[in-house]
Amino acid sequence: MIYGTPNLVKTARGDVSAKFVIFAGNAYLAPELEPRLSRKSMPCGSQIVTTDPLSADQALALLPDNYCVEDCNYLLDYFRLTADNRLLYGGGVIYGAREPQDIAALIRPKLLKTFPQLQNVKLSHGWSGNFLLTLSRMPQLGRLDKQVYYIQGDSGHGVTFTHLAGKLVAETLRGDAERFDAFARLPHLPFPGGRRFKVPLTAVGAAWYALRDRLGV
Ligand SMILES: Cc1cc2nc3c(=O)[nH]c(=O)nc-3n(C[C@H](O)[C@H](O)[C@H](O)COP(=O)(O)OP(=O)(O)OC[C@H]3O[C@@H](n4cnc5c(N)ncnc54)[C@H](O)[C@@H]3O)c2cc1C
Repeated sequence: MIYGTPNLVKTARGDVSAKFVIFAGNAYLAPELEPRLSRKSMPCGSQIVTTDPLSADQALALLPDNYCVEDCNYLLDYFRLTADNRLLYGGGVIYGAREPQDIAALIRPKLLKTFPQLQNVKLSHGWSGNFLLTLSRMPQLGRLDKQVYYIQGDSGHGVTFTHLAGKLVAETLRGDAERFDAFARLPHLPFPGGRRFKVPLTAVGAAWYALRDRLGV
């Protein structure tokens, strides 16, 4: 990537000249592509499983009003029913976004703690995905150069915030950066420990909060 006017984006299949460049690769952006972004964020993994389809009565007994639920722990679990009455259950955080060997072994105990009545229900699917964490848990919006913008680090809450972030960037490209700059002014702190130690240090900190979750304090 060569910043200037216009910017020159070098890709495996050729170069693209672009008036504006927006980095929105989030947890999947290769860290070496723009180290200024990777320095202040951390990819994390979260895992989800689904059960085999439940009977209508079983499903109704689990979530009578068919709500989507997330618990209020620091390391939270989230779950809902699917249209075909499977329980979809996710939870846990893997700092550094390492892919777990056995997703079911990781999530099933959490699922059974919430719904022990599903002891004999089989899991049908399991998958993993990455989100991008920031130290403050606030999203990071900003500029790397005059016409080069970034949006990243919704810290697990991007389903709602990304809609606003897209609008803010669109407004900025049209010449009105007032709302974008309100977010861009938020401080973007680097994780302590640098590239080498930020993952273990964050995991240790999170273990403390997980202990508080378990003790209910
Ligand atoms: C298992 C799981 C559960 C979640 N649950 C919730 C939830 O309940 N509520 C909630 O609000 N949020 C949740 N999140 C977080 C939410 O999914 C993210 O915050 C949101 O997807 C971030 O959107 P984004 O567009 O910034 O990044 P993404 O959705 O990750 O999109 C980034 C895109 O950029 C692409 N990309 C990366 N690098 C390049 C490149 N060099 N060139 C081209 N393309 C590239 C990637 O392939 C990807 O398609 C969850 C995340 C996971 C993994």
